[in-house]
Amino acid sequence: MLLFETQLALIEHLKHISNSKTTIGFVPTMGALHEGHLSLIENSLKNNSITIVSVFVNPTQFNNPEDLEKYPRTLESDLLKLESLNESIIVYAPNVDDVYEGKTVSNQFDFDGLENQMEGKFRPGHFDGVGTIVKLLFEIIKPTNAYFGEKDFQQLQIIKKLVEKFILPINVISCPIFREKNGLAMSSRNERLSPNERQSAAIIYKTLLDVKSKFNSESVAEIKKWVAQIFENQIDFKLDYFEIAEEATLMPCKEINPSKKYRAFIAVFVNNIRLIDTVSLN
Ligand code: AMP
Repeated sequence: MLLFETQLALIEHLKHISNSKTTIGFVPTMGALHEGHLSLIENSLKNNSITIVSVFVNPTQFNNPEDLEKYPRTLESDLLKLESLNESIIVYAPNVDDVYEGKTVSNQFDFDGLENQMEGKFRPGHFDGVGTIVKLLFEIIKPTNAYFGEKDFQQLQIIKKLVEKFILPINVISCPIFREKNGLAMSSRNERLSPNERQSAAIIYKTLLDVKSKFNSESVAEIKKWVAQIFENQIDFKLDYFEIAEEATLMPCKEINPSKKYRAFIAVFVNNIRLIDTVSLN
């Protein structure tokens, strides 16, 4: 495993090891790596000659300073995990100035409205921060294939839109959600949950599965009311939003059109820790 802390050193190294046949697989992460991240990296290792993993907690995508401050940072153990997965992985773990070159602000993006729903509504500025950092990393790494998890489905759609709008020669590959045994979607933020909270957070996925089974027989309004009630009865949980939206546009679904694909999306605070999850409904 090779670790680079500056873009200059990384770019120089890539120049030396690549030729016209090299394919670069890129997996951007914010670290605190878990099996979900590792599944993306394995996918990249299988399908590319070089795999680059970035580990960078991007300040511009956090709308909540406490969330940024408390975000787990575990670089040493991340590097050990990567090393034992595959010694050929290249890691880019820069500091903020190396990526932003002294100007730590977001650019503003128009993602055709994808940015205005759900996470965009509840975390103002979040997707400008995501778009800014991913575009910067794409410019540094110039990947052939870039791997993103369906756990952050809205982010995945936004990255596809970024690639389309800026006509970048990059394939965006979507990867399925990895879950803990109890169904909870793996997340770096799960590290901040107590063992009890981690157990009871299984209700998030369970609720989504119940939504999926109700989707064919109940109206969207009824389902939304039912989900709100579930979380009203849980003292340690606060529902941030629950939405049923069309996959392609992320527009909220009011009435079901059988020719369209829909997903349920949820964001829940477990005490102060915000978790998200999603399932496809049809
Ligand atoms: P993060 O470090 O949370 O920014 O995530 C880095 C990448 O890993 C993103 O593309 C996420 O969607 C993906 N990811 C995070 N959690 C999971 C999971 N449980 N299963 C699959 N992919 C995930």
